[in-house]
Amino acid sequence: MEVLTVATRRGELAIAQTQAVIAALKAKHPDVEVRIREIATTGDKDRRTALWDLKDTGFFTSQLEDALLAGEADFAVHSFKDLPTHEREGLAVTAIYDRQWPQDCLLAKELVGSLDELRKSAKVGTSSLRRAAQLRHLRPDLELVPLRGNVQTRIRKLQTTDLDAIILARAGLERLGLAQMISIVFDPRQFIPAPAQGALAIQTRSGAPQTVEIVRTIDDESARALVLAERQVLVTMKCGCHAPVGAYAERRGDAMEIHAFISDVEGRNVIRRQAKGLVSEARQLGERVALELLDAGGREILRDLERGQGKSDSGRAGAPSASVEIGGHSPLYATKGMAYLVGAGPGRVDLITVRGAELIKIADCIIVDKLANPALLDLARRDAEIIHVPKRVGPGSFTQDQVNRILIEKALAGKTVVRLKGGDPCIFGRCTEEAALLNEAGIDFEIVPGITAAIAAAEYTGIMLTDRRYSSQVAFITGREADGKEETNIDWSVLAHFPGTLVFYMGIGALPAIAGQLAANGMSADTPVALVANATLPTQRVVRAPLGQIVETCSREQIEPPALIIVGAAAQGDAGLDWFMRKPLFGRTIVVTRDAVGNAEMAQKIIARGGNPLEFATMVLEPLTNRNEFFQVLTELTGYHWVIFTSPNGVDMFFDAIGGFGKDARVFASVCLATLGAKTAERLARYGIKADFVPTVFTGRDLGLQLMSYANLHDKRILLLRSELASDELVEVLKQGGAEVRDVSIYTAVPYRGDAAGLEEQIQQGRIHWLTFASPSAVRGFFEQVRLDVVNGNSAKIASIGPVTSKELTGLGVRIDVEAAVHTVDGMLDAIETAERGKGGS
Ligand code: SAH
Repeated sequence: MEVLTVATRRGELAIAQTQAVIAALKAKHPDVEVRIREIATTGDKDRRTALWDLKDTGFFTSQLEDALLAGEADFAVHSFKDLPTHEREGLAVTAIYDRQWPQDCLLAKELVGSLDELRKSAKVGTSSLRRAAQLRHLRPDLELVPLRGNVQTRIRKLQTTDLDAIILARAGLERLGLAQMISIVFDPRQFIPAPAQGALAIQTRSGAPQTVEIVRTIDDESARALVLAERQVLVTMKCGCHAPVGAYAERRGDAMEIHAFISDVEGRNVIRRQAKGLVSEARQLGERVALELLDAGGREILRDLERGQGKSDSGRAGAPSASVEIGGHSPLYATKGMAYLVGAGPGRVDLITVRGAELIKIADCIIVDKLANPALLDLARRDAEIIHVPKRVGPGSFTQDQVNRILIEKALAGKTVVRLKGGDPCIFGRCTEEAALLNEAGIDFEIVPGITAAIAAAEYTGIMLTDRRYSSQVAFITGREADGKEETNIDWSVLAHFPGTLVFYMGIGALPAIAGQLAANGMSADTPVALVANATLPTQRVVRAPLGQIVETCSREQIEPPALIIVGAAAQGDAGLDWFMRKPLFGRTIVVTRDAVGNAEMAQKIIARGGNPLEFATMVLEPLTNRNEFFQVLTELTGYHWVIFTSPNGVDMFFDAIGGFGKDARVFASVCLATLGAKTAERLARYGIKADFVPTVFTGRDLGLQLMSYANLHDKRILLLRSELASDELVEVLKQGGAEVRDVSIYTAVPYRGDAAGLEEQIQQGRIHWLTFASPSAVRGFFEQVRLDVVNGNSAKIASIGPVTSKELTGLGVRIDVEAAVHTVDGMLDAIETAERGKGGS
């Protein structure tokens, strides 16, 4: 049996924490025995120094570390927030344990439900500058009293003195089994805790691999990233754990969000920032918010604190003295950002790499080329700065020098910059220049490859760039230098005899020169050539001709950039491999007329079938969850037998709203749920709920009928949570079945104005193949904007999702070409596909 000694502070809480760690270790290693060695720290002995007079010195931790270094213990358990930001040599935090309760909380003598309910000028005890500053900010009238001692001592002071309330960390109370004393748990995003609050740090000595191995088994990796980000805030600001600085990170899947603040002692100047990013970049995220806080005035606050000018001037009893020294931080703020040179892929939005997409999500600043699909910017943070830098002739265009300058300037300002380029950043992308400049400026950078146009264009047209039969080599060539205007390294005689495939980028303007050079240098006039424009997009085009005729064909077909020229046997292609343009809806422009969210979803489905969606939003959805009726229903949910959602939007609106009250799926613990359609059930599942009943039909009436045959609804209380515009059918059917129905509108759709003139023009020019309608309200919204005679008088066809929508269309006098047999978006697209096939797909 192995025996380990753990060093711990004295006191009930420290021991409770250590025992929790021991229990966790024993669960993993039943044969390890752990002995506790209690050590008094300076902090335990010195009860007088107010904590806000302390530096980042390890007041509560250094004696434990001494014992560890001296070999008197094998590991030590600390409250992580007490550990100085600089690790002592020879020691390391091997495991982070249990971060269930990061929040601060308030214990009050009298029952209060929020900070606002404390009486005016109430006396509140707190031991930290951080809590004091936030309290002062929220309630300037409070009288703050420094409070030291262990948890029990502080609670006793609350009970036996004239204090009205005290603030403590929730974790300590939970671990001591005193959680029932808590009056308010603060939302950690509002009342921001100390970095790493609630987490325990288990420290070991380097060179003790066995102990490290044992201890590591209880490491909570998820908590580690959060704590790392939070502590980085202190590290970057070079201030200790007792400064009026807080940081709180929380995790959502692979992403995390950090909230941080710095304040003067008085809580007058509270600066807050938040940032989102990847868990894998936790440290950088902490650094970023810290730099933002410093830039926003934090630097001055720290300087004043250091000079002692942050001293309270209120003269109130117990005001924190600010003789706080906050680490030496002289030339700290040489901030440096990070630049990512990211390939956006060839065109289609989802052909970017996962890495590229993730970086777009976290960037502060995105510098975009014309070729990158603008839809990628939908991924960006709302507050990200987006700079378009098209490089073409004419106004609004940028020279490479200008682009370089912007890139360096933004990165030097401490930003996370994404330089987004079409295709691959380094294939004819002037990446060398940008990377070299970053390098010179000492800015870290990363290059994220992308799918280059040549590869994508070939694969989306069934052209095999390499094939063991006829192309054992491929060359990518810039067409820019073909016309002799620019200096060139191109050896035309080599290319003319190249035994493989040639791909020219940027060559459409210079096509005559390229074809001419190849022919003049001996390439046969019947060599196959293919031009591929807008590769991977619904507007993709291919033109094929032998070398001798390609110039003429191209000008006849009016091929426009961006396009590639592919030359060689491969360019012949293989019709059997032309999978993309063969898709049933390829080349069809289909107008979607829903709300923005619904349109985006439907657009993706159209793209997947090869079609070209054109989004024309007719309405926007507006929640009605701020009405009294909704609040009332929320409090009575348990009184219903069934709750029915009839759309995915309704589900989202509902959960958005209750999230605001700190509630979740558990509100439905005691009720049965039904949804109209599988889509709505799927959406419900995202919130962790399995619908009890999903009908196999699609109208409200059928839902009602099926539900009645599934469950006895007589005298049952049923709640409908749905759109204000929903029809009464369902309510009537349920009432006829004897149920007591309450129909609560949780959202509505209000008309949205699109670019109707532009759309009408396209319809008149015959460029629109289909107009689709997925609800009666979309029909109304559409024809309030677009003239009926334009629609009826031209070739655009009309698709309706089902009989209710069709009725609305017919009522207005619109002819319907297809009505979906299955009343879903997929059903409607199936119907369009069938119609297109029927006429030979042309
Ligand atoms: N870095 C980019 C190329 C930049 S040069 C890449 O790796 O793809 C710009 C040229 O790329 C255009 O003139 C055109 O020849 C080609 N190109 C880019 N996107 C294209 C697309 N979707 N279809 C056809 N050619 C494309």
